[in-house]
Amino acid sequence: MLSLDIPMSHSRPDLGRTSQILIVEDEEIIREMLVLALEEEGYEVTTAPDGRTALGLLQDSESDRRQFDLIILDLMLPQVNGLDLCRLLRYQGNPVPILILSAKASETDRVLGLEVGADDYVIKPFSIRELVARCRALLRRQGAARFFTPTGNLPVPQMPVLQFKEVMLSPQECRVMVRGEEANLSPKEYRLLELFMSYPRRVWSREQLIDQVWGQDFVGDSKTVDVHIRWLREKLERDPSQPEYIITVRGFGYRFG
Ligand code: CA
Repeated sequence: MLSLDIPMSHSRPDLGRTSQILIVEDEEIIREMLVLALEEEGYEVTTAPDGRTALGLLQDSESDRRQFDLIILDLMLPQVNGLDLCRLLRYQGNPVPILILSAKASETDRVLGLEVGADDYVIKPFSIRELVARCRALLRRQGAARFFTPTGNLPVPQMPVLQFKEVMLSPQECRVMVRGEEANLSPKEYRLLELFMSYPRRVWSREQLIDQVWGQDFVGDSKTVDVHIRWLREKLERDPSQPEYIITVRGFGYRFG
């Protein structure tokens, strides 16, 4: 089961309510420092020490209509990494502002973070005053946007079913149907397929797939990807030696469709 290290508070869905911030960070010292600084600013703060707990909280927030106004997101997290979490939220149509807080300082990392839908990117080590100021700016923008939305928070749309030819993937149910029959995929195979189907025809290198599906903690080599692709093809393709779904792009990697 998921456990929270700070009890959840209930929302007051009026426009004048206290802004709610979710901090997703596995380093306890940073987490506590952020909680202190943000609570001092008058925000309500909830924390999650890993990606999966954060997902649980965000899913709860959909059902009881509690909604976070801002997420501060570390990238290197246990279980579900920050990039995946960010990508998933955007894919689900969740418009919550996201500020990535990461030790990954390269331009590529920053661009990638913003490309998957983050609104701001702060590099560790960071100045707490600057971070609080950036949070305030993001919340101000969010507040201004909400002012023009008569119902307050935007509804979170249902995750659409992904379909290509005879393969159908339902993210809501984590189910895959192939030619009308349920396919029994391992979690990694499912994750690979979901990624492929979310970005049809996009070419992925093995390293990118490892990053997306296995995450930062992966130990092993890119052969792992090939093995999983082979298993996945056996479950999807009519003829795995002549694949029509997962296509090898010679010298680059794989694409779907
Ligand atoms: Ca971390």
